[in-house]
Amino acid sequence: MKPVFVVTGPSGAGKGTLIRGLLERLPQLEAAISATTRPMRAGEEDGREYWFLDDDEFSARADDGEFLEWVEYVSHKRYGTLRSEIDRIGGHGRVCVLELELDGALHVQREVPGACTIFISADVDELERRLRERATESTGEIEDRITLARYQLEQAHLFRYMVRNDDVTRAGEVLAAIVERELVLAGTMACR
Ligand code: 5GP
Repeated sequence: MKPVFVVTGPSGAGKGTLIRGLLERLPQLEAAISATTRPMRAGEEDGREYWFLDDDEFSARADDGEFLEWVEYVSHKRYGTLRSEIDRIGGHGRVCVLELELDGALHVQREVPGACTIFISADVDELERRLRERATESTGEIEDRITLARYQLEQAHLFRYMVRNDDVTRAGEVLAAIVERELVLAGTMACR
């Protein structure tokens, strides 16, 4: 069975950057594009970072059972993994990578055989600095994300692996080593 890699961790931990590096190193991997109701940020494109849906469309698709999982995250915005994305990636003969917040990651860990969860951790002061620097959200939302991030850092033990992102080069190497090992164990990659 093909594994599904789930990268999780608090907002600002650097999941997106690490996943981009991972996809460059291992071309057999492909990231699923989630659906969300949050507004598009500058520089984002529909169908690239996310499928941006309005509330009604998200609800209709959820009612039709189109999501493997979905959650309501900060500020009542919804995020979900479309089953069609997993099928699309499997259909290309590729291995799926999901970037999910913690509840979604736990759900996939419970429900999907072959799911391998990896928690990306970072120092809380560093997280706060990155979130403020990014400043794509309003001040209230940043405070909400920081409060949530503090709580989330304590949940790392629930996941199969933890990678500390205090040095992005080193964290990228550790993440790739974990994924390669799991691919070899699953018989999808030859040992090197
Ligand atoms: P952002 O708004 O910064 O793009 O994402 C906020 C959080 O939502 C991140 O922690 C991200 O990993 C998570 N997320 C993105 N897509 C999904 C999804 O499909 N399901 C779940 N459960 N979380 C998601």
